[in-house]
Amino acid sequence: MRAALITQPRNLEVRELPTPHPGPLEVRVRVGATGVCGTDLHLFEGHFHARLPLVPGHEIAGIIDEVGPGVRGLEEGQLVALDPVIACGQCWACRRGQRQHCLAFQALGVTQAGGFAQYVIAPASNVYPVQGLSMEEAAFAEPLGCVAWGLLRLRPEPGSQALLFGAGPIGLLLMQALLISGASRVVVVDPVAERLALAQQLGAQATVQSGPELEGHLRDLAPHGFDIVAEATGVPSVVAQMPHYAAVGGKLLIFGVAPEEARVSFSPYDIFQRDLSIIGSFSLNGTLPLALEWLQSRRIQVQPLISHRLPLEELAQALAYKEQPGMARSLKVLITPE
Ligand SMILES: [Zn+2]
Ligand SMILES: [Zn+2]
Repeated sequence: MRAALITQPRNLEVRELPTPHPGPLEVRVRVGATGVCGTDLHLFEGHFHARLPLVPGHEIAGIIDEVGPGVRGLEEGQLVALDPVIACGQCWACRRGQRQHCLAFQALGVTQAGGFAQYVIAPASNVYPVQGLSMEEAAFAEPLGCVAWGLLRLRPEPGSQALLFGAGPIGLLLMQALLISGASRVVVVDPVAERLALAQQLGAQATVQSGPELEGHLRDLAPHGFDIVAEATGVPSVVAQMPHYAAVGGKLLIFGVAPEEARVSFSPYDIFQRDLSIIGSFSLNGTLPLALEWLQSRRIQVQPLISHRLPLEELAQALAYKEQPGMARSLKVLITPE
């Protein structure tokens, strides 16, 4: 099979690899579409303790084409979405229901071969049959599963006013999820005008382009601040200003992936005195079924978020788009290995 392999930091090669066969309790999936994510860029740069060589790609949809011994309830020909998080089920974190913090954490496309290949092997328990979705839509189950975990962490109160920084593909998923999970209005901030137009089209109550007038505009929209301030940017200077825009009793959701070494400062007195909550959300935790429910019920639109469909050979180009999203006008890039 053909597979894209990170051989060493910043080196990507498409190679012919032996086509794998599933072992006990595993299935083989012929990959139909795999989304490109910021995590792939981090792995490409050798961060996240990347164990190279690695076939990246963890936002995977495809068709089951071989079923290993002992697998129940899955069959060849089914369209499936994959949960990349492989948890041991036995450690301290797993027993507390925190699979994504498994002490023996493995993940498709992160620690073992993922979806930027013609075929991928997955544990049967990570494979979810999909009904009524296209292959492309099914590839959003994983990133939307991360958003679903964020919403379970955040627990928006009914009627909340939300402010969201970042209208990239994840931000636009998060915005839609907020709107069907309790928030009555979401105001979206981003530097790129086209992204804001799409946010508006997908249900944002108002949008504001980042710039010197930002603070004034946001004060006009919510003079007492927002009940929820979320970010999907990973930009430390954005995170630093989140408390400033929160209403008393407000919740801050840190959803973007900031550089590990980044630090921000805000006033502990302010967090204390205004009853603010700071909430983090990492990866997904058994939330792929919730994401599939959102997709299959058509409450969340993903088709408008797809900007490019590229063959395996152009994964390097897709990662370059990820580095310069504004310039390339890219949103979600799907790799279609066929
Ligand atoms: Zn991802
Ligand atoms: Zn575990």
